[in-house]
Amino acid sequence: MENINLKINGLDVSAPAGSTILEAAHLAGIRIPTLCYLKEINEIGACRMCVVEVKGARNLVAACVHPINEGMEVYTNTPKLIESRKKTLQLLLSNHDKKCLSCVRSGNCELQQLCHEYGVEDEDFYEGGMNHYELDDSAAHMIRDNNKCILCRRCVAVCEKTQGIGVIGPNNRGFATMIGSAFEMGLGETSCVSCGQCIAVCPTGALYEKDYTGRIIEAIADPEKYVVVQTAPSVRAGLGEEFGYPMGTDVEGKMAAALRRMGFDKVFDTDWAADLTIMEEATELLDRIKNGGVLPMITSCSPGWIKYCEHYFPDMTENLSTCKSPQQMFGAMLKTYFAEKEGIDPKKIVSVSVMPCTAKKFEIGRDDQSAAGVPDVDIAITTRELARLIKRCGIEFTKLPEEEFDNPMGESTGAGVIFGATGGVMEAALRTAVETLTGEELANLEFTDVRGTQGIKEASYNVAGMDVKVAVASGLGNARELLNKVKAGEADYHFIEIMGCPGGCVNGGGQPQVSGDVRNFTDVRGIRAGVLYRNDEAKAIRKSHENPEIKKLYEEYLGAPGSHRAHETLHTSYVKRTVNK
Ligand code: SF4
Ligand code: SF4
Ligand code: SF4
Repeated sequence: MENINLKINGLDVSAPAGSTILEAAHLAGIRIPTLCYLKEINEIGACRMCVVEVKGARNLVAACVHPINEGMEVYTNTPKLIESRKKTLQLLLSNHDKKCLSCVRSGNCELQQLCHEYGVEDEDFYEGGMNHYELDDSAAHMIRDNNKCILCRRCVAVCEKTQGIGVIGPNNRGFATMIGSAFEMGLGETSCVSCGQCIAVCPTGALYEKDYTGRIIEAIADPEKYVVVQTAPSVRAGLGEEFGYPMGTDVEGKMAAALRRMGFDKVFDTDWAADLTIMEEATELLDRIKNGGVLPMITSCSPGWIKYCEHYFPDMTENLSTCKSPQQMFGAMLKTYFAEKEGIDPKKIVSVSVMPCTAKKFEIGRDDQSAAGVPDVDIAITTRELARLIKRCGIEFTKLPEEEFDNPMGESTGAGVIFGATGGVMEAALRTAVETLTGEELANLEFTDVRGTQGIKEASYNVAGMDVKVAVASGLGNARELLNKVKAGEADYHFIEIMGCPGGCVNGGGQPQVSGDVRNFTDVRGIRAGVLYRNDEAKAIRKSHENPEIKKLYEEYLGAPGSHRAHETLHTSYVKRTVNK
């Protein structure tokens, strides 16, 4: 690709043609501050934080959208620019409730950080009216606080463009502009799918998950309760970021140690249930292929995707696998199999899950998720909430030793751990389905065609003389594109994996927030997924059907995959919903 030569702050810089000033400056090691900009999602040049001076230009230009030209001379830090950015921040703060001390984002708020960098003082605020908004807590998973919204529109763009949903947008005009849903509906009344991608990109404390950490502390303190925790694969790939570890650090051992020190009665692993999911899902797929069932079968692990399918593709709910998600399978087995084995009344068990996902908070309240007559999972928290809980409990995370999960529900294979990356469920299912169909051991366990962070992936495998066609989509905008192809008869897959969040759970709406400065120039999904693939490689057992504790579960309790008992406890049903924007 052709390179363009320019000067930034007097320095000779060369950057690929088509780059923006922001990108060229980044290549030269110069950070230009941004607030509204999110690469490929929100490129509107609206907040004016990234303004720079260009020699010969009459006005300041927005570096995030302005392309570079040969011979251009750019200045990023002149007194005029610093004054302009400071004024922008002062104006934002003049209509902001500034409760930093109690704000969930204090410490990693992009607005707070910029105010600090630019020396914006308390007394700097412009006098004027302030808007006051009621909190919107109508959704199961999150709270919207417009008093802290800076109208950057990142949430609007991710909901509309990345997820193809569009249940939030700017309402009113001028000073009265606010982000909300149509007709002032609460978010919980719309067809929001609870994915939390809006929370993940919000630079301030305007959007946050409903925090259930207090309920966990109370449950652990109650001597009548038996409190068990499970942690999803992606949590170990993200949690370390909250404690200063570089992105891509696997903190599985420290996480298990922290949970034990908090006082959970058992520290188990959702990966165990991921292996169980594969046993049920692969059996269901083979049954549908052999017996003329509805195809393509589509995975059901992602509750954001499930709710999306119910709202936006209700005519395809029969394509969904009837398997509960690993979180719910875990809860179901905890309150039936484990409770019976240990002689514990399931009503006394508090089933806690730690998930990279906000939609899990919605999922635990769905119908048909109560194998023992009580909810399979009682409390679902995000990776971010777990970090808060660890800090609140005074646990010195970085100093902890590496510890193992408890057994039996802590034993997992490499197939279980890759569930957190897009393509991981497909790869895990293929490892089991191919060996089941051929009766032979796979020479190579890695199905690389379905790996990687592309939004849509397709592959075909010849298995026992049959061409098995598969597809993988992550992010709901990509899911929509793929399903429209299926509906138009342009593709005929046997099996599709869909994850609600782009890149899969490693990039879930409950994972540690990454500032725009970092995410615009970092492959967050790829780096976190790398943790899971390395974890898989290091495992002695890498196929779900070889997990000894899952084999024991079938021998002792379920019978066989797809048995009557398995269906009663591990499978679920769906509803057809309407779209309400
Ligand atoms: S959003 Fe940021 S600036 Fe506003 S109160 Fe919270 S931490 Fe402070
Ligand atoms: S949770 Fe997802 S669907 Fe709901 S408003 Fe946010 S981005 Fe949109
Ligand atoms: S809610 Fe957050 S992401 Fe959305 S416009 Fe307001 S500050 Fe930006």
